[in-house]
Amino acid sequence: MNSFNDFGLAEPIIRALVNEQYVTPTPIQKDAIPVVLAGRDIVGIAQTGTGKTAAFALPILNRLAANPRRADKKSCRVLVLSPTRELSGQILDSFRTYGRHVGISSALVIGGVPMGRQVRDLMHGLDVLVATPGRLLDLLRSNAVRLNQVDVLVLDEADRMLDMGFIHDIRAIVAKLPKERQTLLFSATMPREIADLAAQMLRDPVRVAVTPVASTVERVSQRVIMTDKPAKSALLIEVLRGEVKGQSLVFTRTKHGADKVVRSLHHAGISAEAIHGNKSQNQRERVLGAFRAGKLRTLVATDIAARGIDVDGISHVINYDLPNIPESYVHRIGRTARAGAEGVAISFCDNEERAFLRDIEKLIQIKLDLTDRRSNPHASERPPAKHHRPQQNAGRNGRNNGGQHRNGQQQRRNEHGHQGKPRRNEQGNQGQQRRNAQNHVAVAANPDNIATVGFMRQPEPRRHITGDANRNSR
Ligand code: AMP
Repeated sequence: MNSFNDFGLAEPIIRALVNEQYVTPTPIQKDAIPVVLAGRDIVGIAQTGTGKTAAFALPILNRLAANPRRADKKSCRVLVLSPTRELSGQILDSFRTYGRHVGISSALVIGGVPMGRQVRDLMHGLDVLVATPGRLLDLLRSNAVRLNQVDVLVLDEADRMLDMGFIHDIRAIVAKLPKERQTLLFSATMPREIADLAAQMLRDPVRVAVTPVASTVERVSQRVIMTDKPAKSALLIEVLRGEVKGQSLVFTRTKHGADKVVRSLHHAGISAEAIHGNKSQNQRERVLGAFRAGKLRTLVATDIAARGIDVDGISHVINYDLPNIPESYVHRIGRTARAGAEGVAISFCDNEERAFLRDIEKLIQIKLDLTDRRSNPHASERPPAKHHRPQQNAGRNGRNNGGQHRNGQQQRRNEHGHQGKPRRNEQGNQGQQRRNAQNHVAVAANPDNIATVGFMRQPEPRRHITGDANRNSR
């Protein structure tokens, strides 16, 4: 399957791919498209950036093209659930792009915008509905949508939906779907809860796993700058002025932190904008639009807001704060090095974040190159205050999710991976490339045993959130 022509997709779809200049299917597309075309359920282990949207959208469009019929009023034939508004918007765009010669009807159901238009969109029935779970449930409850005609369900970024507390919403939605349907579940990681969900909701699924974290990560040149917390702002300005030639995406852990970074950049005469859950949908769309169009060079974002951002021009990802969830690091740096390009990820790490760094290195199985700019490198590490796994609420439009919070706190991971190995204080990344290459061999030689690269590892007791601890911090 080295060409899209080999799949037997309908001509209008092939034409759209020619328009898009897609020549070769990506690995997830090669694996998933024939399976989905055959009508099987699928569990796809893939991150954004692997081409997974087309992997499910193309065969779904093929099905719609082969059997054109209008769904009944308020109904849809294909339902795609995704965790965030941004990702949902991008998925809808993809369906419209790939389906432009098929002539499908489609709509978006997301929080943060008035319901009226969504109710009207649904009124006459649709081929494809892309939704975040919270708003869809609201519409279900007000009888604005019916799900009894759904032929295909896609759960995209299932692990992220779990993180965001959507699992009960998803169950409630799936309970309204016909039992006879095709279900496609995509997830970057496979924590136990998602494996359980798949076992309950999918029928004899084919498992397709591509691009383990480590091999995606390896296209990105990564390094860490150890720094004092108060020096981060000046460091960011230095990096943006001195090194970044393209666009950069700067990550902070909190919404407040994102705003603060933007203020300090403005103060230094650097234009930047923030997107996060406190911004209105209009603001988010305006800022993202400017970033996509290349008019905005620096975007500061929290993890949730940046989820699914697909902008080819991002040359640098800068972790102003290290994420306390190691998988977020992988999602973050995946915003650069899109579609085969190379990218740079620079992480600022202060003393309190060293445990996060160890968790990240353990997950990606790469010891990151490190420059030490702390004023007192020998200061003893204070244990990070509390590694709460944050409550992530962007998709719920700021509402409580109904109490499905996950228990416990983030566990401090053991650190055996680095014991006894002196930290190098190096410039350049030859060492990293060497280690990446070794890592790649390990991955390639053992594609089935993804656990060896930390990607599919059995979850250590998963770090959980407590109540609403950080509900509004993102
Ligand atoms: P996704 O993983 O679905 O977010 O896709 C990542 C990026 O790859 C998007 O910009 C897609 O437009 C692009 N893409 C997907 N499939 C292909 C392909 N076969 N050839 C070239 N670009 C692709």
